[in-house]
Amino acid sequence: MTARDRRDLATARRIVVKVGSSSISGENADQIGPLVEALAAAHARGCEVVLVSSGAIATGMPFLSLDERPTDLATQQAAAAVGQNVLIYRYQAALREFHIVAGQVLLTAGDLENHTHRSNAQRAMERLLGLRILPIVNENDTVATHEIRFGDNDRLAAMVAQLVRADALVLLSDVPALYTAPPGTPGAEVIDTIEYGTPLDRFQFGSTKVNGVGTGGAATKASAARLAAASGTGVLVTRADLVADALGGAAVGTWFAPNPAPVAPVMAHASVD
Ligand code: GLU
Repeated sequence: MTARDRRDLATARRIVVKVGSSSISGENADQIGPLVEALAAAHARGCEVVLVSSGAIATGMPFLSLDERPTDLATQQAAAAVGQNVLIYRYQAALREFHIVAGQVLLTAGDLENHTHRSNAQRAMERLLGLRILPIVNENDTVATHEIRFGDNDRLAAMVAQLVRADALVLLSDVPALYTAPPGTPGAEVIDTIEYGTPLDRFQFGSTKVNGVGTGGAATKASAARLAAASGTGVLVTRADLVADALGGAAVGTWFAPNPAPVAPVMAHASVD
C-alpha cells in the first residue's frame, strides 16, 4: 500500500532507501553499521527493502592512492570498479549479523527505459525480494555515467522505486530536511511536506554540486522525489543518521506526498517539474 503519509513508513511493505557516497565512505565508512541495523529492523518486520547505494568511487579512491575524487571520467569509472566490490563486501559483512544476504544489482537509466532490459530487471528484483534477499543497487558506472556527473544516484533511486512499485522511497542526505532556501540563508525554513503538484520552483534548492566525494544536493533530491511521487510513491528526504527514525514513521525530514492518481511510471526523460 502506497505510503500516503510519512507515518505509513512504519507499516510499508516495500521501501527503497538511497544513501549517498559521503554518508558511508571515508570517515563515515563506520556508518554502514547503523544503516544496516535500521534496514534489518524493517526487514525483520516483513518489509521488503531495496538499498540504492552510491559510494563506489569514494570507496575505491584509497585503493588507487587517490586523496581526492578524480576529475576525469575514466579514472572515476576505474575507482568505481575497484570500490564497488569493497562496498558490497562491507555491506554483506554488516548484514551477516542479521542473517540477511545481499544481492548486487548494477543498472543504468537506459536499462530501465529499454523494454526487455526493464522487464528482466523487474523479474530479477521481484525474485530477489521474494527470496528475502536485500538488493543493493548502484549505477553500472563502467557503462553509464549519469549519476557520477549529476545525481549521486538520486534519480536512479526514483527509477528503481518505480520499477519495483515501492510504497515509499527514503532519500538519505547530509541535512535533516530540505529547506526553502540553502541552509544558512536568512529566512531559510525547514519544509515539512510538499504536497503533490506544488511547483518546486517556489523553493531555492541550489544547483547540483560536486562535494568531496560524490555529486548531488537538494535540487537533485527534489527532482528525483518528484519523479517517484508522480508515479505514486511517497518520498521522505532526511539525514542518513535519522534512517531508523524515518523507517519507524517518525516526524523527521521532508515528505513528498505521492500523486493521488498515478498513471504509468514517468520515464526518466519526461519533465516532472
Ligand atoms: N555510482 C557512483 C558511485 O557509486 C555515483 C556517485 C557519485 O556521484 O560519484 O560512486
